[in-house]
Amino acid sequence: MPITTTPATPLTADQLPAFAEQLQALKAELLARVRQQRGGEVSRADAAAEVRAQSQDDWAQTDAERELSVTLEERELADINDIAAAQQRLADGSFGECADCGAPIGLPRLQANPVALRCIGCQTQHEQRTGQAHAPRP
Ligand SMILES: [Zn+2]
Repeated sequence: MPITTTPATPLTADQLPAFAEQLQALKAELLARVRQQRGGEVSRADAAAEVRAQSQDDWAQTDAERELSVTLEERELADINDIAAAQQRLADGSFGECADCGAPIGLPRLQANPVALRCIGCQTQHEQRTGQAHAPRP
């Protein structure tokens, strides 16, 4: 099989199940760690993550998020949110496409970071623009 220098090619349908499994495993691992640290209450965090996945652009404070924010560290919350959002993209067929330019993110980058939202170029620009991982509130 020839190796090309093309930086990114679109994912094929048969590559998606592996990412679904990887994301599920990441989430399970994260929740297990939280469970270990907090001694329970993970089902609530899980439920809140599902809520977030359905409204990932809405950073307005909801009751679920307020509750979650006292349960989880900000970083854990961001990680769970990233995983849930990636699972949502898998479900709606946009997984592997850069959120900014629509180009394929590329298999190597996704394998290294399955929750990647942008291609490497856009991610770099985004971080320079915002100085943080998440977009500011509108
Ligand atoms: Zn891009």
